[in-house]
Amino acid sequence: MRKISFLVIVVSLLALSCKNSTSSVGGTVSNLDEFNDAVSSAQPGDVITLANGVWENAELEFYANGTAEDPIKLTVETKGKVTLEGESNIRMAGEHLIVEGLVFKNGHTPTGEVISFKKDLENLCNSCRVTECVIDNYNPSERHDSDYWVGMYGKNNRFDHNYLVGKKNRGVTMAVRLNSEESLANHHQVDHNYFGYRQALGSNGGESLRIGTSHHSLKNSNTLVEDNYFEMCGGELEIISNKSCQNTYKNNTFYECKGTLTMRHGNETVVENNYFFGNGKANTGGIRIINETQTVNNNYLEGLTGTRFRSAFAIMNGVPNSPINRYFQVKDSKASNNILIDCDNIQFCAGSDSERSAVPVNTEMVNNIFYNTSKDDVFTVYDDISGIDFQGNILSPNTIDLANKGKAITKGFDKKEITFNRVDGVLRPEGYDSVGPKSDKERPTADNTGVSWYPKKDYIITFNTGKEIAVAPGENTIGKAVKSSSQGDVLVLESGGKYHQSKSIDINHTLTVKSKGQKPSITFERSSLFNIENGGALSLEGLQVSGKKCDDYAGNSVVRTSRYSMIGNYKFFAENCEFKDLDINHSFNVLRVYKNTFADSIALVNCSFDNITGHVLNMNKETDDLGIYNAENVLVDNCTFKDIGGVAINLYRGGRDESTFGPILDLTNSTFDNVGNDKRNKENAAVALHGVQLADMNNLTFKDSKKLDLHLVVGDPLISIKNTIFDNSVGLTSNDNAFVKENVTTKRSMK
Ligand code: CA
Repeated sequence: MRKISFLVIVVSLLALSCKNSTSSVGGTVSNLDEFNDAVSSAQPGDVITLANGVWENAELEFYANGTAEDPIKLTVETKGKVTLEGESNIRMAGEHLIVEGLVFKNGHTPTGEVISFKKDLENLCNSCRVTECVIDNYNPSERHDSDYWVGMYGKNNRFDHNYLVGKKNRGVTMAVRLNSEESLANHHQVDHNYFGYRQALGSNGGESLRIGTSHHSLKNSNTLVEDNYFEMCGGELEIISNKSCQNTYKNNTFYECKGTLTMRHGNETVVENNYFFGNGKANTGGIRIINETQTVNNNYLEGLTGTRFRSAFAIMNGVPNSPINRYFQVKDSKASNNILIDCDNIQFCAGSDSERSAVPVNTEMVNNIFYNTSKDDVFTVYDDISGIDFQGNILSPNTIDLANKGKAITKGFDKKEITFNRVDGVLRPEGYDSVGPKSDKERPTADNTGVSWYPKKDYIITFNTGKEIAVAPGENTIGKAVKSSSQGDVLVLESGGKYHQSKSIDINHTLTVKSKGQKPSITFERSSLFNIENGGALSLEGLQVSGKKCDDYAGNSVVRTSRYSMIGNYKFFAENCEFKDLDINHSFNVLRVYKNTFADSIALVNCSFDNITGHVLNMNKETDDLGIYNAENVLVDNCTFKDIGGVAINLYRGGRDESTFGPILDLTNSTFDNVGNDKRNKENAAVALHGVQLADMNNLTFKDSKKLDLHLVVGDPLISIKNTIFDNSVGLTSNDNAFVKENVTTKRSMK
């Protein structure tokens, strides 16, 4: 009995002393145990400070309750000196918490989110704030493993002044979730964040911000997205995917973003006072309206070139009695006082087809300015627009009238010369002060959003930005030079020199190999000459590559991608090069790509391909038909393909998903002579395009070659073929006639 009492007393004293030792919570914690202790006893007003250094594999669980007057704060000793790396993340639950100054880099989250406003489905965060955090290039190695960087749940949370850059894998950068009652009508605020560069994903799931999902899209979210800067966000068609009701997007800047602010689902959205700058860059987009009671006022859009679903401005057709996940008809919506300058495409009833047959109704377009003096035909109308009331809109005098069912609409439009003055980066029309964004608020820029203390890096792949390295002829000299090179360097080979590689060369950064003068010749032995590994990009200029000395195996290639998933997009350029005698054994390719790799761009210019048993470009490794593909932009100009056993070009994008831009092909001024006739060529084609979204083909000659095969799949692909001759060839085949064909002639048909 006495013993037990004594034990109780000892335990009680211990508990008391523990409590005493942690009652002054706050101060600096140096490891996860100290952090957990601090959190478990945190009281309103406490500040927990992470010590400077690298926090490796730190899964921070910040579950506590502060008060409105005295929140509990998690911060860092010195901003920029605390990094969470490896498999780190943070989950928050409770009320009145503030998280400040965390940097996630060199790793990826082990869970589905890097920053999560929930512990689990029952325990969410309310009235919490995440500010001045950075997530930088924090990606898993598999590009199609999905995660979110930020998942917002609960109510009344704020996410502000954060910097999110370099998301490369599948999954939206930031998601506001409405998947439980406790997260509806949330009144979250997303402001002053810097959404940095996002590369093309080559699949759905590359949005920078999504609010809601189709399932919950008729519920109110009431999220305010204000004063944010979106820079070069181009993961997919939707930069922002609005999928719930009563959200507001106000005073945000979209800089060279290759997609649109899309009102994909949900009603009563307000899009106001936003700035879109395309700077004439390809596929830059603006605003896309779907659903009911949408308001689009006083926005500024300049230099946007995108078309179809990434037009500067698009109103879509809907599906009659649409299922929740398809397209609701546009009703009771209004666009007024917007300025569109030098925007190439304004489209009405976009997406009109046999399913999307419900045209916009009871919708107004009032007092907008559409000014483009270099393109007359900015309007495209796909269906009946009599349900849109136009009033007081201004057009540049050169603009071709908008027409409904072939009949010009002049009422509601005035053609006028307007003088614009550029003020603080924005063109202001003289005499139209009420049109365009109101200037009482600061326009978001790279400098007034995100954090000031973290360096901004350039994520764009650019060749020829480093030093020149002279490479002497001989064996493995190129490989040695590559090993000593760094990002953007240029290896310069000797004019007419002879180079031989007995080893394959891994390319791990952006690199150019070129010559000045007479093309040097390169031979190699192994199954590939260059391997573009994750992070690599390769440009070859003025070289002659021969397969004559390769080992006698099937399946060699001059260049191949990594055999494993590449999280980084790559580029492969060849200009003024000769590829010849790739005929040691069968299936010898110029470029061999693997599944889960993605080319940002491939360009073959002024090149010759001669005597090759396999394929030149065979981009068809995504065969699951999920809308995933292997290359975004493919440019082939002024090339000759002669005696090629396989395909010269094969681009494959299967499935019916409409979230992506590509593949995009420019194929011009090229000849195909005896191409595709090897019995191993499963495509049975010289050029095969399956599911390509944009293809511009002009001035081509096919002689003694297999077919040019088109397989048109989703939406409204823009395919044109002009000035092309098929001589003793199979000719042009297609599953659909919805493409432009001009001056295509067949001289003799191949038997
Ligand atoms: Ca999407």
